[in-house]
Amino acid sequence: MFFINQAPFSFDLSVYELFTALHLGGTLLLNDAATCKDSQRFISRIAHYGGSVWVSTPTFAYLYLTEPAFVAETLPCLHSFLFCGEALPKMTAQRLLDRFPTSRVLNTYGPTEATVATTLIDVTRDVLAQYPDMPVGYPKPEGNVRTTPDGTRDEPGEIEIIGPHVSIGYFNAPDLNAQKFFEVDGQRAFRTGDYGYFYDGILFFNGRRDEQVKLNGFRIELGDITAQMLAVQGVADAIAVPLKVGEAVKRIIGFVRAQPGSDNQLVRTELLARLKKELPEYMVPGDIVFVDAFPVNTSHKTDRKALIEGYLKR
Ligand code: AMP
Repeated sequence: MFFINQAPFSFDLSVYELFTALHLGGTLLLNDAATCKDSQRFISRIAHYGGSVWVSTPTFAYLYLTEPAFVAETLPCLHSFLFCGEALPKMTAQRLLDRFPTSRVLNTYGPTEATVATTLIDVTRDVLAQYPDMPVGYPKPEGNVRTTPDGTRDEPGEIEIIGPHVSIGYFNAPDLNAQKFFEVDGQRAFRTGDYGYFYDGILFFNGRRDEQVKLNGFRIELGDITAQMLAVQGVADAIAVPLKVGEAVKRIIGFVRAQPGSDNQLVRTELLARLKKELPEYMVPGDIVFVDAFPVNTSHKTDRKALIEGYLKR
């Protein structure tokens, strides 16, 4: 097995190829960030070394689907695609199977708090044809997964993970630990905040109900971005909103209402300086937009949808 590394080591996805290669006595093809961004160089390296197991987020593989050379003829050794970290669109799986007809596409699911993945499924053509939603898989043998309350497609329940691979908790965060971690029959358990349901013994993921989103595989709490924007002088109100195409987040937009009398240009400069200093690069909004007032919906909450619609019409 020749594992192809792409994820940075700070992303727990990389544990997949690092430790699986060690465990199986396989080989690991390490790639720096510049190589991963240069699709032709990356493909040439895989072809040259005969990489056989691709490990990435679905978004990363999707970007490679625009490359004509990303096909079985150029990469005859590539026989498996291992995905984790975000939803795998059916279309991506289908197109990979078309381009690499004898390959296996594996979808795995799990949060970092239950490292690395908790469920797995071989996404065959039959699976794609059989289920309307993309399954995330069967729980691994030593782990137990349930949805609470017991979910259905129409009414999904919160996904809870039980087992030895569940973390002992967050560092120095007793309140959050009390909220998220608990015990079931003496085993550690975690409330994921993800919603889903079981069908045919297979777990299906149905999204989240909170402010956590995925952008290019990176997990982002929108509330953390909003909090940083609100801390900038001259900002009266702010909110970070994801711009989505279908279910996929394409970028984060920071909407800002400046305090009366402040200079928007100055506020923008200060905002960007603070966001770049306080947040990792992938969390810095792709655009900052000043608005005179935030629209509200019928529940009197900030109408994020209207903000995005206004943004798209500009
Ligand atoms: P992270 O801790 O960065 O690995 O992010 C974990 C979160 O990513 C999960 O709680 C889910 O919300 C999402 N996620 C991970 N794998 C999948 C998957 N296969 N399908 C859908 N969402 C996923």
